[in-house]
Amino acid sequence: MRYWNSRLQKMSAYIPGEQPDKINEYIKLNTNENPFSPSEVVLNAIKSACNEQLRLYPNVTSQSLRESFAKLNNIEVDNIFVGNGSDEIFTLIFRGFIDPDGSAAFPYPSYSLYYTMAEANGIKYDRINLTDEMDVDFTRFLEKQYNLVIVGNPNNPTGKGCDEDEIRIFLDQFNGLLVVDEAYVDFYGETVIELVEDYDNLIVTRSFSKSYSLAGLRIGLAVANRDIIKGLFKLKDSYNVDRLAEVGARAALLDIKGFEYNIRLVLDNKEYLEENLEELGFDIIPSKANFLFVKHPEMPSKDIFELLKEKKILVRYFDGSIQSDYIRITVGTMLELKALIKELTSILEA
Ligand code: PMP
Repeated sequence: MRYWNSRLQKMSAYIPGEQPDKINEYIKLNTNENPFSPSEVVLNAIKSACNEQLRLYPNVTSQSLRESFAKLNNIEVDNIFVGNGSDEIFTLIFRGFIDPDGSAAFPYPSYSLYYTMAEANGIKYDRINLTDEMDVDFTRFLEKQYNLVIVGNPNNPTGKGCDEDEIRIFLDQFNGLLVVDEAYVDFYGETVIELVEDYDNLIVTRSFSKSYSLAGLRIGLAVANRDIIKGLFKLKDSYNVDRLAEVGARAALLDIKGFEYNIRLVLDNKEYLEENLEELGFDIIPSKANFLFVKHPEMPSKDIFELLKEKKILVRYFDGSIQSDYIRITVGTMLELKALIKELTSILEA
């Protein structure tokens, strides 16, 4: 620690969901990964890219992935940046789009990496509580002159989405940079990508970790005005996305059938999970993502989390006001969810 700078000394570390060593012994419903394998098409594309060309550096801008995404979404290639997961894109945004004396604001509760990154970069930030209905309170983000605001659409850990009109109204009045984090948007498809045409202070980020079952590959995208994209390219490491990741992500993007099949399975399982949790008496925040934020009126969430863990079922519990009343459960396979419901039933009966 002797050589850590003062920011590093002061910052609190990001705490990811547990990835246990003996992962196959667990039912893992704690980090919002997709429970289903990438499709054969995607796996084969990655396998066939395992060839002698790996001795060469990858394409510097992940051009073919950008072209495919542009075509599918009817936008220009110049409006797209590819990162090593969307987390890398947030890192770059903090590094290059806000000055040390600038200020940021994020909803609370939301993805705690936003707070960690602000601290890592010495940026002052406010955490603005969600409303009682767990919605983003956009008017409160206009109370001060923030340079950067990040909101999840849908938000993690609540799963609630933002309304496009609200985002538009906010952008009409906001002078800083707004990042809309759409890591989970594919589960319901209400993107605000098209607003990038109208607002030069909007960055929309996407992830291949959830809806494309590729958390292990590390691919994220940013869609924004060309100047912002140019800035991201200027800031990034020279070869931030590896060959296999680009090939795999592109194959996943083009495998529309596989993608739609995967999403349908997740949503069907989610319906099953919702119905069964409701029957057990849980309060459920209406979610537009692949996870549910829930609490039970008769038992503290921390106890439920710990008792499930004893049975090798991992869900997510967060310390801190508001969020510690809840647990977050990722939608798993039907087998996993049946095991979860069985354990919850016996925990609550006891
Ligand atoms: N945004 C949110 C809201 C998330 O929950 C996560 C995953 N923890 C990410 C971004 C990170 O996504 P990626 O794997 O693309 O870095």
